[in-house]
Amino acid sequence: MIRPWIVGFKTTFGHMFKKPITVNYPDEKVPMFPKWRGKQVLMRDENGLEKCVACGLCAVACPADAIYLEAAENDGSVMAGPRYARTYQIHKTRCIFCGYCEEACPVSAIFMGKDYELAVYSKDDFVWDKDDLLVPMAGQAQPQATRK
Ligand code: SF4
Ligand code: SF4
Repeated sequence: MIRPWIVGFKTTFGHMFKKPITVNYPDEKVPMFPKWRGKQVLMRDENGLEKCVACGLCAVACPADAIYLEAAENDGSVMAGPRYARTYQIHKTRCIFCGYCEEACPVSAIFMGKDYELAVYSKDDFVWDKDDLLVPMAGQAQPQATRK
C-alpha cells in the first residue's frame, strides 16, 4: 500500500530538480532549425536596394499560386534597381512553405525566413505585402509583421 506512494514521490522529486525541457513561451523562444521554412523575407543588396527585379519566376514556380506581383520601372523614387516589384504579395493561407520561390529566384531576393508566429486577428492580414516582407533599411524599425 505504501510502496506506490514512495515510488510516486520519488518520481516527482526526481523531476523537480532536473533542468526543465520546456520554455516560458512567448517570453522565451527556442531558435528554429536551420532548415526551417517560415515566413518569406525579401532582401536588399549591400547598398540597401531591393534585390527583387520582378522577373516573376517565383510566382511561376509557386505550386499554390500564392504570389502576386506587379513589375514597374524605377523612376528613382524607390530604393531599388531600374526594374522592381511595385506590388509583391504572398497569400499566407495559400502558401504551403515549400520553398520553391526561394529556389526559383535568380537573384537571391527571396528567402524562407524563420518567423513561425503567423496567427492574425483579421482576414485582411492574410496577405503579406512588401511592408511585411521586405527587410528594413539599416537603422529603420522592423515592420510589424516581421517582428511578431
Ligand atoms: S513557399 Fe512555396 S507555396 Fe509558399 S509562396 Fe513560396 S513557392 Fe509558393
Ligand atoms: S523574388 Fe526573385 S524570382 Fe521573385 S520576382 Fe523577385 S527577383 Fe524574380
